[in-house]
Amino acid sequence: MLIVMQANATEEQVRAVCARIEALGFKAHPIPGSTRTAIGITGNTGSVDIGSLESMPGVVECIPVSKPYKLVSRDAKEEDSVITIPAPSGDVLIGGETVALCAGPCAIETPEQAMAIAEQVARAGVRLFRGGAYKPRTSPYSFQGLGEPGLKILAQVRERFGLGIVTEAVDNESLDLVEQYADVIQIGTRNMQNFSLLKRAGRASKPVLLKRGMSATLDEFLMAAEYILAEGNYKVILCERGVRTFSDFTRNTLDLAIIPAVKRRSHLPILVDPSHATGRRHKVLPLSRAAVAVGADGLLVEVHHEPDKALSDGMQSILPDELRQLAEEVRQIAEVLHRRVN
Ligand code: PEP
Ligand code: MN
Repeated sequence: MLIVMQANATEEQVRAVCARIEALGFKAHPIPGSTRTAIGITGNTGSVDIGSLESMPGVVECIPVSKPYKLVSRDAKEEDSVITIPAPSGDVLIGGETVALCAGPCAIETPEQAMAIAEQVARAGVRLFRGGAYKPRTSPYSFQGLGEPGLKILAQVRERFGLGIVTEAVDNESLDLVEQYADVIQIGTRNMQNFSLLKRAGRASKPVLLKRGMSATLDEFLMAAEYILAEGNYKVILCERGVRTFSDFTRNTLDLAIIPAVKRRSHLPILVDPSHATGRRHKVLPLSRAAVAVGADGLLVEVHHEPDKALSDGMQSILPDELRQLAEEVRQIAEVLHRRVN
């Protein structure tokens, strides 16, 4: 159920409707828009008795929502959500008119490795740094990440280069720590439907980057995001990273058509990860160009100064020079689309 308020409804009226919703035993989610505020209702297992809400001052109408998601939907908010990442060097915006770049190694390996790559990332004009301290690896014998010491290295990167930090939480325990150190909490592909982790992320104070599950449909992807918003965290950034298909010449198949499909259904921003999508360095630049051209709100790219020695995903990590070229080309493509890279 969605309550649509009049364009000139007062804050007092919005508060009163929220209080009535809560008194009925549900959760109210006021979603301010440029033309009007909508109030989403969650926590209802059946239908909501709308009689008492419809007649309240400031209410235009009560719309039953038939879709399995509501807060992420364009019905709840017409305009694009813009998520603010407070990097030390100034806010980085994701969504709307801006295209955001985030780059870094797959995993944090040593302080020297992280600093060397971060320096190159900053030099390319990229303002968000990625790098896993907790790695969800397919084999239990592969490098699993440094854990908290890795987060401490990321905190140093943040301080030294002024970069915003994006890093993955793999369970509730690591999320507690990631929330303390990072600017954006990443939920990986393998956890897209880990509902207890999604709920915990929904109670976090930091924005969440939610990667599409390896075989998730569009609705499943949006419902996973809905879990986070339903807990009260509206700062969600989606990320397409390729899905599993019969096609075997790339690591995954990059589903770029999901970008306009998400844009039609949801106000949330969506990034593209061409690194995990393709698994090969030489495919990252062409698909980065395509992703921005198709309307992605940014890119999440793996970069390494010594990819042959990387402890994970070296084959898909681009070199620092290639990152600079990528950033430059993406800037030009964004400009054609009347967007700017920040
Ligand atoms: C990653 O971004 O490091 C990662 C593990 O990606 P994904 O969850 O998309 O496989
Ligand atoms: Mn990786």
